[in-house]
Amino acid sequence: LGRSRGTDFFRIADQLTDEELGYWNTARRFVDDEVLPVIADYWERAGFPRDLVRRLGELGLVGDGIEGYGCPSMSPIATGLVHMELNRGDGSLGTFLGVQAGLAMQSIAMLGSEEQKQRWLPALAKVEAFGAFALTEPTHGSDSVSLETTARREGDEWVIDGVKKWIGNGSIADVVVLWARDDEDKKVKGFLVDPASEGFTAERIDGKGSLRSVWQAQLTLSGVRVAETDRLPGANSFADTARVLAGTRNAVAWGALGHATAAYDIAMDYCSTREQFGKPLVSFQIVQERLVKMLAEVCSMQLYCLRLGRLIEEGALTDTIAALAKMNNTRRAREVIAEGRDLLGGNGILLDFHVMRHMADMEALHTYEGTETIQTLIVGRDITGVGAFV
Ligand code: FAD
Repeated sequence: LGRSRGTDFFRIADQLTDEELGYWNTARRFVDDEVLPVIADYWERAGFPRDLVRRLGELGLVGDGIEGYGCPSMSPIATGLVHMELNRGDGSLGTFLGVQAGLAMQSIAMLGSEEQKQRWLPALAKVEAFGAFALTEPTHGSDSVSLETTARREGDEWVIDGVKKWIGNGSIADVVVLWARDDEDKKVKGFLVDPASEGFTAERIDGKGSLRSVWQAQLTLSGVRVAETDRLPGANSFADTARVLAGTRNAVAWGALGHATAAYDIAMDYCSTREQFGKPLVSFQIVQERLVKMLAEVCSMQLYCLRLGRLIEEGALTDTIAALAKMNNTRRAREVIAEGRDLLGGNGILLDFHVMRHMADMEALHTYEGTETIQTLIVGRDITGVGAFV
């Protein structure tokens, strides 16, 4: 009864190139065979799955479309499909990829010097090195544009002071892309900071009820010295930081789709076999209506993602489109997962059934890279011509 026919009702697969289908299959097999059997245990004990993240490098899934420098050649859709699949498996793995490839590697690829790219991108793509992206501060999240970390030029070096919060991979990174305000011209600049530098400390943030298998840290920099050659030459103001962030919102939109797809699949399977009142749950009209509404949301998210990917390919991504996609898909995913969780009754809160993990992890996706409210204000500014942030 009611066996799931998957979620590809609008035949998204027909729109994909062989290469894109290849990435999709590789990521899907990795998730089904290697991630799902072990990930609930990592989540429960808040363990970081080093072996699994290294496998991402071995499988050639890390690079987010960066050309050359040892990165796999991936279209924006292939990149999105990989983010979708990893999040279908686990939000922490998806978030790791978002930080490693989307934030750290893209900052270097978009704004770094040739030497910086040669030095870091091949190792980060193979996950032989870990990268982090340090923008948020304890007192500046949504308004990260007001960041207070300072960078003071002293000859061929910069001296950096400040505190950063919520930095993914911050306690294990080999290189931290760090954003600080130039003391002199007051512009935001980007630096490649070596965590082994004197004055640099990283403290892991514990006690999280979301994304328990990927670690964030609070970073403190007290007089950390960075060579001028480790400053990102393409980062001259916060507008350059924002260009990196617009790209990664694409990945979060796909990631949200992965979480929603998982919740739909889990609920569909469960309702097909669980019997109450002498019949499988799928026999009841209200259950069917709820499953259909979940499916409709998943399909609409897929269509957003597909067009988003093609628009990026055409070089037509705007802040508004990126914000719309992130806002729409994280909001929809939250609703779909909540429905799925409820359809599993009491079992819905057990880690063995996976849906609770997706529900908890989705909360972080909804917040990071700009909350739903902030995405709404970005779109609102565009359609009304009035900025309502302050
Ligand atoms: P706040 O900005 O304090 O927002 C609190 C609430 O106020 C939200 O609901 C928000 O929508 C609302 N709000 C804020 N401003 C307005 C306004 N003008 N109008 C109406 N409502 C408003 N940062 C990094 O730099 N690197 C990372 O790797 C990283 N990883 C992260 C991983 C996780 C798991 C989390 C939770 C965060 C991560 N972040 C990272 C930080 C993340 O980007 C911020 O948490 C996010 O931007 C929100 O900032 P905040 O938490 O300070 O919330």
